[in-house]
Amino acid sequence: MNATTGKRIALISVHGDPAIEIGKEEAGGQNVYVRHVGEALAQLGWQVDMFTRKVSEEQNTIVQFSENCRTIRLVAGPVEFVPRDNLLEHVPEFLDNFLKFQKENNITYQLVHTNYWHSSWVGMQLKKIQGTKQVHTYHSLGAVKYKTIEKIPLIASQRLAVEQEVLETAERIVATSPQEQEHMRSLVSTKGNIDIIPCGTDIRRFGAIDRQTARADLRIDPDTKLVLYVGRFDQRKGIETLVRAVNESQLRGNNHLKLIIGGGSTPGNSDGIERDRIENIINELGMSDFTTLPGRLSQEILPTYYAAADVCVVPSHYEPFGLVAIEAMASGTPVVASDVGGLQFTVVPEVTGLLAPPQDVAAFATAIDRILLNPQWRDELGKAGRKRVETKFSWDGVATQLGELYTQLLQQPAKEPVLLSK
Ligand code: UDP
Repeated sequence: MNATTGKRIALISVHGDPAIEIGKEEAGGQNVYVRHVGEALAQLGWQVDMFTRKVSEEQNTIVQFSENCRTIRLVAGPVEFVPRDNLLEHVPEFLDNFLKFQKENNITYQLVHTNYWHSSWVGMQLKKIQGTKQVHTYHSLGAVKYKTIEKIPLIASQRLAVEQEVLETAERIVATSPQEQEHMRSLVSTKGNIDIIPCGTDIRRFGAIDRQTARADLRIDPDTKLVLYVGRFDQRKGIETLVRAVNESQLRGNNHLKLIIGGGSTPGNSDGIERDRIENIINELGMSDFTTLPGRLSQEILPTYYAAADVCVVPSHYEPFGLVAIEAMASGTPVVASDVGGLQFTVVPEVTGLLAPPQDVAAFATAIDRILLNPQWRDELGKAGRKRVETKFSWDGVATQLGELYTQLLQQPAKEPVLLSK
């Protein structure tokens, strides 16, 4: 028997493929989370299979990251990109193909860790069919999201029902911040078991390069005051607030400013439309000579951008966790973020950065200026941020906590499946 057989876990992430390029439409924090959690668990001796949906014929069905860690792509609906809000009808096929994979490979997963609500539905069916235990991470809560957007999608009622059911039935829910846990309790259900285990970041990669070298690499001169955004183009990311805040800062006489807005987009898709909208605002405000949009930044080049920046701004309308904030902090760069969700947990105001009310242009401008105008304080905030990430948010630490949780759940007696085996 393989020594790791007892430590086997399936991570299910129907729409967040851990093996694809990050930073484009719908590929963000969840993909990064699943990939890094999987790899770090494998390092700890777990046999990790990460299941996602195949979106193109060119994609390999299996991507092997290391001996014990692989991504497996299952067919569910058309083999093409399908927006999240239209995915539910294809999830039963995902479940069928998951069961087929188990059968063909002679594996029965005792434990699954599901990510986002579609995947939680798959986990709940596996529990009914074969008694699989379930850990779930939401990544985004419908009950919170629908309070911050104007057009509620048709899928909303189904999503809210699934999100409530999984909270009440999963062996454990992993909230990534105390703020997320509080939202689950106040908006979803008072029943169910929740642990708080944060997201993490690669503390060896982020922080490996100093400001001077990073600026030389990017050809940014030492006097430039560099404001950085990293993330997807989505209206709820609040990029407009940042652009207007930097404009206000410049109008107040802040010179030598440079704004870099990093993130990928595809013309015609929702992220391409948001990018066009942002570029129009930049042009209207006359900011194009000091603003650049370099497109998607690879995980390899990102540490250089974070290290070069004087401040990284996370202006999201809402954020359940917000990986970008801890990546910047790990790189020794202070963060100005919206005073919402997980950002209230990661960013300690006046210690590792500053918080401002979401969409409040004047408050963001003031916070950015306070840091840009005081380089010594900037450095102190940066150092404190790095320390906070080292102690609380490394992937190794996060994977250790998850591994302990999985072990504890696997040791509990199995429940009888409700349905007969398919
Ligand atoms: N990201 C990237 N390249 C880009 C833009 C974003 O690699 O051009 C990564 C970023 O480093 C982070 C993730 O995408 O790891 C975004 O995660 P976050 O939690 O901040 O936001 P989400 O996308 O989940 O809303």
